[in-house]
Formats: sequence, C-alpha cells, structure tokens
Amino acid sequence: MRSSHRAVRPFILLAFAVGPFLSGCATIGGANYVSIEEEWQIGQQLEADINRQVRLVDDPTIRRYVEGLGQQLVRQTNMAQRPWRFHVIADDAINAFNIPGGVVYVNTGLIAQAGSASELVGAIAHEVAHGVARHGTQRLSQAYEPNVLAGVLLGGNPGLVEQLAAQVVAQGAFASFSRSDEREADRMAVPMMAGAGWDPEGLARMFERLMAESGGGGGIPFFSTHPTTQDRIAGVRAMARGYDGRTDDGQFSSIRSRAARY
Ligand code: ZN
Repeated sequence: MRSSHRAVRPFILLAFAVGPFLSGCATIGGANYVSIEEEWQIGQQLEADINRQVRLVDDPTIRRYVEGLGQQLVRQTNMAQRPWRFHVIADDAINAFNIPGGVVYVNTGLIAQAGSASELVGAIAHEVAHGVARHGTQRLSQAYEPNVLAGVLLGGNPGLVEQLAAQVVAQGAFASFSRSDEREADRMAVPMMAGAGWDPEGLARMFERLMAESGGGGGIPFFSTHPTTQDRIAGVRAMARGYDGRTDDGQFSSIRSRAARY
C-alpha cells in the first residue's frame, strides 16, 4: 500500500500540502522516519510559528500552574530529560493538543470547564502521552517522504512548517489520530497521572463531563480530534480502578476562575 503511493507522493504533495496528513491516513502504526533529535527541531519551528498565530495567555499564575502540572506528568515518562513546553491559549473552545517535540497547548476553555484539577490533569496527561508515543511524527512519516522531512530540518522547506502550523491553528490539533493511537494515549495517561499522585479517574470524568455538555460530543474541538465513546470512558475507568490519588489541590479553583475571564 505504502510503496505504491511512493512514486506519486512528491507530486501530489505540492498540490495538497498537508491535506492527506490531517485528513487521517489509513496506515496504522508503521515506521517513524523522524529521529527524536529531528522531532525536537521540527517541534521548535512549529511552536514558534503557532505561537505567532494564537493568543497565548500571559497571566503568569495560569501559565505556571499548567506548566507545573505538565512537568509533574512528564517526570513520570521516559522523556523526562527533554525540555517539554506547555502553553495556554486564550480561547473558549474546549481543547488541548500536542505537537511534535514535546509541546502541549491547553485552551482556557478546557481549564474553565474542568470539574476538578484531576480532570484537567487527565487531558494534559493524554496529550503528553501522544507526545511520548510520538504519534505526531508517526503521522508525518506516513504522509511525507523522508527527504521532504529532511528538507524541513535543513531549512529547505519553511513552507511546509508554515502550512502545518496554519493547519494546527485552523483545526485545533496537529493530527486526527487513529483510534488505536487514542487508546494508547489513554493507556499511558492513567499510570502517568497516578505516578504524579493524581486520581486517574479524572480522565474518565473529563470525557464524561464533556460528552454530557455537548450532547454526544458535537461542537467540542477536543472531541473532533479525540473521538470519545462510552466504551472509551469505561476503558479508562477500568484502568484507573487500581489506583488512588488526589482529585484536587488548593489552587485549581482560583486558576479556573482566572481562566474563565479570558
Ligand atoms: Zn488524543
């Protein structure tokens, strides 16, 4: 399947840019042509571009809080030594997403709608898990030839980085991940949350709350890129059952009020 596409990909690339990549590729799993070092370089370029296009929250109290939660979670992973970055976007839309190279974005809308700190932590842990599992660069590897990606790293393809960044901003996500990517991220998020002392059921509660509020998931950007079903929620709840942890801290409710003002 993949090899039959090879010959034509470079030609359709110019015409369709990131379309085939973001619309979701049928190939599951597969090789990742992007090394960790390369991924971190691509991530920095993308991050700089995205940050120019969104409205980042400058309230240091909110930023420090989200960064603190994120770094706690990262410390539970095998990518703890890398310089992860967490940004808060001033946007009512309920959303969070990961881009390659250890960058996670959380919208103020998601903070404002979370019922407890552990629900917010659940969403962040899920995004960190996508990053640790390198789902973003797996998608890039499926959509582009290795030489195209190498061109980005050599600075020879700034247009592609711009297009990817523009798509992220427009669609509120780096990619539509497969169901198995989503399940894997959930599976990784649960022990990550527990390891940081949080009740991992917070992830299930976050999904449930958003589903209830949206009447089945429509209209919430997080769900358009993270399709959520009762099965998925039950799966997270079952995985969380063996763990204890805190659902809140002394800070969350004041952070939520601050986020709601954006
Ligand atoms: Zn996801």
